[in-house]
Amino acid sequence: MLIKNINHITDKIGGILIVGEVENGQLHPIAEELLHKARELRLDDELIELCIINNKKVDVTRLYQRGMDICHQIISEELTAPMDTLWSDIFLEIIKVRQPKIVLFGATNFGRSIAPRLAAYCKTGLTADCTQLERGDDGDLIQIRPAFSDNLLAHIKTTTSPKMATVRYREFPQAEIISQKTVANVIEVTGNEKLCFLSLPVELVYTMEEDWKSKGAIKEFVIEESPLGKEDICEAQIIVAGGAAIKNQDDWKWLAELASEIGATLGASRALVDQGLASSQMQVGYSGNRVKAKLYIACGISGAPQHLAGMKDSSYIIAINKDPSAPIFQAADLGFVGDMYSLLPELIKAIKEKRNG
Ligand SMILES: Cc1cc2nc3c(=O)[nH]c(=O)nc-3n(C[C@H](O)[C@H](O)[C@H](O)COP(=O)(O)OP(=O)(O)OC[C@H]3O[C@@H](n4cnc5c(N)ncnc54)[C@H](O)[C@@H]3O)c2cc1C
Repeated sequence: MLIKNINHITDKIGGILIVGEVENGQLHPIAEELLHKARELRLDDELIELCIINNKKVDVTRLYQRGMDICHQIISEELTAPMDTLWSDIFLEIIKVRQPKIVLFGATNFGRSIAPRLAAYCKTGLTADCTQLERGDDGDLIQIRPAFSDNLLAHIKTTTSPKMATVRYREFPQAEIISQKTVANVIEVTGNEKLCFLSLPVELVYTMEEDWKSKGAIKEFVIEESPLGKEDICEAQIIVAGGAAIKNQDDWKWLAELASEIGATLGASRALVDQGLASSQMQVGYSGNRVKAKLYIACGISGAPQHLAGMKDSSYIIAINKDPSAPIFQAADLGFVGDMYSLLPELIKAIKEKRNG
């Protein structure tokens, strides 16, 4: 066991568990979107639960006010950066005790790494990148997700339990407030006792076993920040994205300068991620991030359906491509045909001149 004294007993099991993600001490907002969906999915008296791991307690008041019943907080001073295998082992202990029918994750980098591991540990299926979730007449979870580059919607039922699904960020609205309750009934879990959830919401606080480090597969976790794409692209209002026209790191300089001039975040097509010229956090598209920017500038991107799937909902799309027949122009509101290495310096110069009056 990694968590100290987790063997509590309760007759209220089998609800919906949301696996939360903590970034810089804050709960990732996708938890509120999953809570919205969990409230719609909930049958009878199923409890909605959230499980988070962090180095200190996270304020989840907003979720209590939005209908969350139980929050499991696993705390240890050294649990600062997510270590996928260790985190999965910890979540597994919560799943074993709470026996949820449904487990939901955000389809963020964190969720995409944790969910498959947990599904494998539980010997159950996982449906990735769901865009809709429903309960069938038999109470079973119907997981709906686009397939074949968004050309059809697959309805998937998992025959094993628990049912596990990742959901894309911003696919569901955030849960609406239903109570002004700001204080949960906090229980420090001491183990082997009967827990009684008479007064909800409940916060169950667990600590890690003293020797948890020796049980984890990862001994050291080093974070190396990529010089490109530090911002969360899903939150970006303006994006300058590069495609296979970029041949080396130096080619990014014009896109980086344009991005800095207009306050944009850098994005990339998968071609660049595959070549190691961009980080996976920067990838826009079907198997990357879906963005809804106010302005999306695609530079040297052909406009494959898998790329369009991730950015077509942006409000205004500008495409720069030397090939006038490139499909990106079909999706663009404004197109420039030409060599981007000639066009971008001109564009940056024009923006600077306009700004300086
Ligand atoms: C299951 C699956 C999932 C996928 N998921 C994704 C995804 O999430 N995101 C994604 O992007 N792709 C994804 N792809 C890959 C996708 O099919 C394309 O291969 C990829 O998007 C192509 O990237 P690109 O447009 O940068 O490159 P290319 O298709 O090679 O296009 C490069 C473009 O740059 C133009 N160009 C070249 N030089 C210049 C220049 N100097 N100035 C101006 N224009 C220039 C060319 O005319 C060309 O149009 C996926 C594919 C599969 C099968």
